Amino acid sequence: MDADIVVIGAGALGLSTALHCAMSGRSVAVVERHTAGSQASGRAAGLFKSVQADELRTRLARRSIAKAVTFADWAGTPLAVARSGSYLIARTVQHREFLRRELAQSRRWGADVREATPAPLSYYRPAGDEFAVWCPEDVYIEEPASLIEACLAASQRHGAVVSENEPVIGIPVMAGRAAGVETQHRSITAPVVVDAAGAWVRRVAGLAGARVPVTTVRHQLLITAPDADIDPADPITRVVDAAVYLRPARGGLMVGGFEPDPLPVDPRHLPASFTTDDVPLDLGVLRRLAAQVTDEAPAASAAPVAEHRGGLFTMSPDGRFVAGPVPNLPGLWVASGCNGSGFSSSLAIGEALATWITSGTPPPGLAEFSPGRFGRLRDDVLLDRGLWQYAHYYDPTAPDLG
Ligand SMILES: Cc1cc2nc3c(=O)[nH]c(=O)nc-3n(C[C@H](O)[C@H](O)[C@H](O)COP(=O)(O)OP(=O)(O)OC[C@H]3O[C@@H](n4cnc5c(N)ncnc54)[C@H](O)[C@@H]3O)c2cc1C
Repeated sequence: MDADIVVIGAGALGLSTALHCAMSGRSVAVVERHTAGSQASGRAAGLFKSVQADELRTRLARRSIAKAVTFADWAGTPLAVARSGSYLIARTVQHREFLRRELAQSRRWGADVREATPAPLSYYRPAGDEFAVWCPEDVYIEEPASLIEACLAASQRHGAVVSENEPVIGIPVMAGRAAGVETQHRSITAPVVVDAAGAWVRRVAGLAGARVPVTTVRHQLLITAPDADIDPADPITRVVDAAVYLRPARGGLMVGGFEPDPLPVDPRHLPASFTTDDVPLDLGVLRRLAAQVTDEAPAASAAPVAEHRGGLFTMSPDGRFVAGPVPNLPGLWVASGCNGSGFSSSLAIGEALATWITSGTPPPGLAEFSPGRFGRLRDDVLLDRGLWQYAHYYDPTAPDLG
């Protein structure tokens, strides 16, 4: 045996799982097709959100925030985190009701969230009649690469061996168990294989004949050119009726959002060379989203664009993670189904998965994320449900909101 655990993919989820497994004394190998953080994780907005649609995800989101702000203490590597807090804002009657429900349930689930009158921000002038929730626990990481670098350094310090530019091309199954990975030049044997291959999770699981119930959907954001009027200390703003998020970034403003007609992009049907750099970007989508908040946040529409980036989300039919052992194939584990929250939840999901892998017992609630929970859904159903979840990122329990 070459390692106790081999992790496929060095994005936020793979590296966090590797780090937590290594911290519990296991020998860990991480194999990455390109370079660490080069795909979805390196493109993330870096936002952490304490308000979630259910209690389990609220617990994990808050756990991730706690782990991010104390990263140096437990992982031994510094990590800069902007403890900005965030506003959730609703401007329509239906979304007010929705946010009121979120406020009540999030408080019940332990999150520190309060109804608030939003103060004017440097980049957002409230109209005065909106319903707002202040979320003081929320944070962001200015450059997503910094979380990757911190997890990479910490996992290596704890003994994990991370190999880059080495695609996994096979997962041998021996006596009915996943038994390691094959790359072009070598085999790594391990009794535990974790598929954390992001948008390629289905392709990789397929190497072992397994199926992961996710679909992949484009997501984009832009960062405006620096503007002296934007205060870098301002909080995050999420306007739920417009499905738009805003935050200070690199001296300018970050603008992202969830279009009602998202674009599915399935790497399984694209050339093997396909990477995140090949995801087609469309500034028009972001312009249409920003236009909905142009009165309150004129810079979102008007300021020159310094960066426009995008990548793929892995969406599950119920909007919840797909994480745990693959049914009927002992030894194969999955860390996926991020539904747009994989960057921010990675520290808690990696910790929970590592606990499950190393102890054999799922931490409370985690079995709810079982990759087997949907049975065998047809691909077109997976796609429809995944697209719905994407389009309702901020109002996932309210399909009638439109
Ligand atoms: C524009 C944008 C903004 C986002 N903003 C946020 C945000 O603010 N907050 C948040 O929580 N989430 C956000 N997300 C989502 C978040 O980025 C993802 O959920 C998260 O990064 C997924 O992490 P991952 O490790 O699963 O995937 P990835 O980071 O894609 O990592 C998977 C890795 O697996 C590797 N791989 C694939 N196939 C193989 C193979 N055969 N062999 C070896 N390695 C392989 C890939 O090269 C890749 O590096 C955003 C995403 C995008 C695109």
